[in-house]
Amino acid sequence: MPITSQTASTTQNPLMQAPNKADCHCHTVFSDGTLTPVALLTLAKEKQLTGLSITDHDTVDAYPIAIPYAAELGITLVPGIEISAHYQNTSIHVLGYAFDLQDAGLRRLCERLQTDRESRNEKILLKLARLNLPISMSEIKTAFPTGTIGRPHIAKLMVEKGYVKTMQKAFQRYLGEKQRCYVGGMTITVEQAITTIQNAGGFAVLAHPHSLPNKILSALTQMPFDGVEVYYGPLSAKQESPILSLALRKNWMITGGSDFHGGQKSYASLGASFTPSETFDQFVARTKSHFPALACL
Ligand code: AMP
Ligand code: ZN
Ligand code: FE
Ligand code: FE
Repeated sequence: MPITSQTASTTQNPLMQAPNKADCHCHTVFSDGTLTPVALLTLAKEKQLTGLSITDHDTVDAYPIAIPYAAELGITLVPGIEISAHYQNTSIHVLGYAFDLQDAGLRRLCERLQTDRESRNEKILLKLARLNLPISMSEIKTAFPTGTIGRPHIAKLMVEKGYVKTMQKAFQRYLGEKQRCYVGGMTITVEQAITTIQNAGGFAVLAHPHSLPNKILSALTQMPFDGVEVYYGPLSAKQESPILSLALRKNWMITGGSDFHGGQKSYASLGASFTPSETFDQFVARTKSHFPALACL
């Protein structure tokens, strides 16, 4: 029987329940993480996580590989995604959980996001070329053959080509919002992201809102989210507390995760933050309603 958040217990002392440890925010090579789904799940097992949701940017392509392997390892895996949306001109990430992975509307949204990204990436490369920092699309495709391509991939090649010392510098000098080579160009609104996730039978969650300007955060609180990511990466309880208050005030589901990206230093390690059992159990139940016999539940 697979270990789930409900059944996990220590063999030495049956009275001592092992805590539910479900990290609901992490990335693989299908977006800008450095680990394959198999390597990520192997690490999750080493870290004794009981639950996981892989939330690649704008794709669910990790799941066909991840589902059977999670089942083999006894890790409860629920569908997840991190959608690149915008509110006015600010980039907002919307997490989706426990949706139907086959949903046609969600699939169409992912395709549109990939198309947006292709034209945006070309515009970014054009801006870089004008600054005498050339990178070709074929170099990117060779270096990153799978999944969603975005600014982190471009930043990584800028480091490899000696244009900047670190990825962080690539963002600070060129790729970050308001920098010289920044291009917006993602066409999905927050409302569209929420509706698409909910129509696919899932829960829409506002990702890492801790650093959003107050004005934007208060506008987002008027939107029909199901939950908010309270526990995030390496943040302290003090940093998380305003968002916890918001979740309680709105009666939103409380989620948490590391935003682990593999070997990239600027992110927390896998298992740095967890989703409370109360929420994770709802994710499992909702996923079962779409896929009653899913092997990884
Ligand atoms: P994109 O999806 O192409 O807009 O790229 C956004 C991703 O880039 C985020 O999800 C982060 O993983 C990463 N990112 C954003 N800002 C920075 C930064 N200042 N330093 C390093 N990575 C960043
Ligand atoms: Zn990312
Ligand atoms: Fe994000
Ligand atoms: Fe993320």
